Amino acid sequence: MESRREKNLMAEEESDSLIAARRIQRLSLHISPSLTPPPSLPLLQTETCSARSKKLEVDGQALSLYMRGKHMDIQEKIFEFYNSRPDLQTPIEISKDDHRELCMNQLLGLVREAGIRPFRYVADDPEKYFAIMEAVGSVDMSLGIKMGVQYSLWGGSVINLGTKKHRDKYFDGIDNLDYTGCFAMTELHHGSNVQGLQTTATFDPFKDEFVIDTPHDGAIKWWIGNAAVHGKFATVFARLILPTHDSKGVSDMGVHAFIVPIRDMKTHQTLPGVEIQDCGHKVGLNGVDNGALRFRSVRIPRDNLLNRFGDVSRDGTYTSSLPTINKRFGATLGELVGGRVGLAYASVGVLKISATIAIRYSLLRQQFGPPKQPEVSILDYQSQQHKLMPMLASTYAYHFATVYLVEKYSEMKKTHDEQLVADVHALSAGLKSYVTSYTAKALSVCREACGGHGYAAVNRFGSLRNDHDIFQTFEGDNTVLLQQVAADLLKRYKEKFQGGTLTVTWSYLRESMNTYLSQPNPVTVRWEGEDHLRDPKFQLDAFRYRTSRLLQNVAARLQKHSKTLGGFGAWNRCLNHLLTLAESHIETVILAKFIEAVKNCPDPSAKAALKLACDLYALDRIWEDIGTYRNVDYVAPNKAKAIHKLTEYLSFQVRNVAKELVDAFELPDHVTRAPIAMQSDAYSQYTQVVGF
Ligand SMILES: Cc1cc2nc3c(=O)[nH]c(=O)nc-3n(C[C@H](O)[C@H](O)[C@H](O)COP(=O)(O)OP(=O)(O)OC[C@H]3O[C@@H](n4cnc5c(N)ncnc54)[C@H](O)[C@@H]3O)c2cc1C
Repeated sequence: MESRREKNLMAEEESDSLIAARRIQRLSLHISPSLTPPPSLPLLQTETCSARSKKLEVDGQALSLYMRGKHMDIQEKIFEFYNSRPDLQTPIEISKDDHRELCMNQLLGLVREAGIRPFRYVADDPEKYFAIMEAVGSVDMSLGIKMGVQYSLWGGSVINLGTKKHRDKYFDGIDNLDYTGCFAMTELHHGSNVQGLQTTATFDPFKDEFVIDTPHDGAIKWWIGNAAVHGKFATVFARLILPTHDSKGVSDMGVHAFIVPIRDMKTHQTLPGVEIQDCGHKVGLNGVDNGALRFRSVRIPRDNLLNRFGDVSRDGTYTSSLPTINKRFGATLGELVGGRVGLAYASVGVLKISATIAIRYSLLRQQFGPPKQPEVSILDYQSQQHKLMPMLASTYAYHFATVYLVEKYSEMKKTHDEQLVADVHALSAGLKSYVTSYTAKALSVCREACGGHGYAAVNRFGSLRNDHDIFQTFEGDNTVLLQQVAADLLKRYKEKFQGGTLTVTWSYLRESMNTYLSQPNPVTVRWEGEDHLRDPKFQLDAFRYRTSRLLQNVAARLQKHSKTLGGFGAWNRCLNHLLTLAESHIETVILAKFIEAVKNCPDPSAKAALKLACDLYALDRIWEDIGTYRNVDYVAPNKAKAIHKLTEYLSFQVRNVAKELVDAFELPDHVTRAPIAMQSDAYSQYTQVVGF
């Protein structure tokens, strides 16, 4: 009879040899790739640790139905089109010039071959337009941005800032890509400060024309997408200069938008007076041809002024329904928020992709384990869960928040309701900056979470990171945009005390100022039960309390400092405080939307999974900012500890449904997996992620 010790030794040898065989098999795959594992070897164990705890059964289909928008069909059509056209897929290694040409061909293919016409939806069905943008952006981010430049920026400026005559003349050409165009706002010396632009458009009443000029090098239009190679037109933002009969001779009417042809329609040669330079190789988005434009007395007809908010008559008289330069400027920029909405939405798309790659990989990748037992999935390490599970919860949170933003934007486009315009303006600024900053950081975390394999270009983190990085800067620098949110909150804070109305998104401020800012209840600050901590009321109250406090304090600080430093100096003295306030407010809106989404989910199992993610999002954020809550005794020490413990527990619970949660994004294979192997079983998922 074999002794117990001998049996143990044999078992140990057996498991050692199994592990060794699997390692050899993996290594051999690196030399001679095969798509399926030999049948004799077991698949990777993905449930090693998690199997020990009770797992929530989630109806994946129901969850994904709830997540995918109503424009799934058009997205599928886009994926099918590019999948059927290998010549239109972007290779890993490609030169700048080839990438630009490919990107143009990808766009032409979409419009002229697949018959998808994004421009038709820019004004009439923005939700559909953003769904198209998300899908093409996942094919190649450069394509998403190129499409955005053509339709949202160039096309959007024509239809939103112009009038019927412009729509009639340009719509079809923009739609079918005969009229390729640019959006020329930024100058070498002025990016964020649009009111400081220096390019001029001087009216010549004798010839009934505007003369566009770049007065000095600092006014050269810079970074203009579509300018270096493909654009035929540009919407140029310039100061409108009108002749006057007083001693000054001219009057500066502020920044207006003009359509300026830059290349010949037939020969594609640069037109007289226009000089174009290439902005060169960039950190990312090299499929987009950014260029610099200089104008030397370029003449355009008076009709080329995009005259929705201000017009010039034949005799040079200026008319506008808006009384001041500032109001006209605000209205002009207000019409351009669509770009920001699109970026916030697209950034969540990037976050979904990177979180999916990292989480799928972490489920399958195994390193270390208890002695003489199979190695464990790296997602079973608490540290890996800490990196990825709050991120997954945040991805869901931002998904619902940006879906809400897109709905509000669409409603605004239909109703032009003034309150809604103001609401969407601040919300788009806030969500764009908050989400893009988060995604930029998350991309690095995901790369690191995949170890060395995350560094292989085929696994996409490099290109996603490089392409997405600039989302934080264009369509409004994030730090500048957050200040707009803070300014809006302060305006509404003042209005509240003057008895003004508050719109839906901000209405909590009314309540919060009275309720939340009273001394925290000494009993509830100690409550630490799971039911209480997972109660949406506790979570939302905590977020609102923080925002209200930050708002009240910064209002007092601004008042104090403005006496000695003036308005600008006081603002600068409180700038970090203001940015924290804006972020806190945006997080509050995000949480409110997430809670609402959980409540409205019709399927019980999907709802339970969403509730886990929502609680994790809320408690993780509270824990991240626990110092603030502790400082004002909103949370007692025992409660802080309970929040931390529960956050870790929820991370673990979310890990158990992580596969279902990422599967519900229903991202197509080409987006989340390296393109060479496309099989769906667990083993090939692993090899795909590492690029074999
Ligand atoms: C790839 C790419 C494509 C682009 N495409 C276009 C295009 O098609 N058309 C177009 O018109 N433009 C385009 N841009 C320009 C882009 O919109 C600007 O770069 C952007 O608006 C920021 O302006 P800036 O570069 O002048 O930065 P700045 O405004 O100079 O900002 C630099 C830094 O200063 C900080 N800062 C500035 N002001 C403040 C403040 N008030 N408070 C605190 N901090 C401040 C910012 O946070 C930032 O960190 C593109 C840029 C790039 C890189």
